[in-house]
Amino acid sequence: MADKQRINLPEGQSELIITSKKHKHKNAISKKLIAIIVAIMLVLAITSSLAIYFFTSKTILREKEQELAAISMLTATNIDVKIPGDYTLQGDTSYRLYKGDTDITIMLGLISDNADLLNVEISLIYSDTRILTTITDSNGKSVTGLGLAPQINSALAGSSKGIFFENTLINTDEYFSYYYPLYNSDGSYAGAIECCSPLKTIMPTIRNNIIIFNAILLAATIILLLLIYNFNLEVNKSIFKLLSFTQDAASGNDAALLDASLLRRKDEFGTIATAVLDMHRSMRDMMDKDPLTKLYNRRSANRKLDMIMSHYQSNGTSYSVAIGDIDFFKKVNDTYGHDGGDIVLQAVATILQDHMKKNGFVARWGGEEFLFAFDKTDLATAEIIINDILDDIRALTIDYEGREIKVTMSFGVTCNPELNKDEIIGLADERLYYAKENGRNRVVTALPDDSSEN
Ligand code: GH3
Ligand code: MG
Ligand code: MG
Repeated sequence: MADKQRINLPEGQSELIITSKKHKHKNAISKKLIAIIVAIMLVLAITSSLAIYFFTSKTILREKEQELAAISMLTATNIDVKIPGDYTLQGDTSYRLYKGDTDITIMLGLISDNADLLNVEISLIYSDTRILTTITDSNGKSVTGLGLAPQINSALAGSSKGIFFENTLINTDEYFSYYYPLYNSDGSYAGAIECCSPLKTIMPTIRNNIIIFNAILLAATIILLLLIYNFNLEVNKSIFKLLSFTQDAASGNDAALLDASLLRRKDEFGTIATAVLDMHRSMRDMMDKDPLTKLYNRRSANRKLDMIMSHYQSNGTSYSVAIGDIDFFKKVNDTYGHDGGDIVLQAVATILQDHMKKNGFVARWGGEEFLFAFDKTDLATAEIIINDILDDIRALTIDYEGREIKVTMSFGVTCNPELNKDEIIGLADERLYYAKENGRNRVVTALPDDSSEN
């Protein structure tokens, strides 16, 4: 309750406790908002996950292609440096592969050094057949003599640069393979350096990368969802507070409470809350106050007087009541017109309000008649305050359309807290009447024949 703002609560109503109502809405905005956000996040997460999958595999493949291309080119160059000359196949029955004058048919070292060093498989292909290769079968035997798949062979023969294949079946295993073509000095196609990595060694790398990226994505999604959920909760709370207040106020509860934290907000909720509060205050003023003088009207004066009287009943706090009336007001109207009379009423009300702010309250009781309640004030003190008011009224000059208007007032005051409201007001009225009868422009605290007066 500490953080609630009580709105100009009429005295004595502070014990009113507002029980907040449950607001159940079938189509609550917050639920819709959460559903939309979760749907968007899911679509985003799935799209991102797929994008990560394609992007990661493509990147790793691209890197692998470049690595294999570099190794195959390096191997071909190494061979050329070590053994210059063209590739030729010689012999009648058992063919031998020559480079220049050197028989390289069994010189596995030409390719195996690079293969071991860089952890790949390398083969030297002449025409469409592997002559030297580091690839072995299940018995550990080199797969020398194994031919190239026809589609690789035809693609290679027609191209001047290397070709990469994402999935090549060699013997019984699948590989990423790069083929770097070899040409003899007359420009004729001789064969290729095949450089490959088994698929099964690369796939786990791709998988791990995707798992790591997706884990990061999942964590980010969860954090974002939590943040959004939190924000939604906050929005929801503010809506609930506004709803509570407006429903309380709409049900006619003058003491409806608006959570002060809402008013402090710097966003739209703060603005709405302030506007709603202002609206509530204006409506209450319209009900409780007289539109011309802005003083309490007779209805709220009765209520406020009841409260002061009930304080007396419970605490014995004494109080005085007075009725004041503008003298010869009809004449003011007759002389200056109704509008002039209204201006006078407003000017007088301002003086009355100034004096009564600290001492209790003043209300417009009738046309040019005002009711005063002096809280915790005895008759003598009330008389002093009224005399101050009288002085100020006497000193008041109202400029109206170039003319000066002056008025006086008469007062009847009583301090009989043990009487009922009608009796008290009746007594004050009697004394006012006496003041009117005896020259006006004065305050009367007792009638000449009063014996029991305070
Ligand atoms: P007294 O000194 O005996 O009080 O004489 P009075 O003329 O003040 O009293 P009376 O009751 O004869 O006249 C009160 C006038 O106040 C009559 C009424 O038209 C005028 N009046 C009441 N309400 C308003 C108002 O809101 N505006 C204006 N301009 N006049 C009002
Ligand atoms: Mg009058
Ligand atoms: Mg009157």
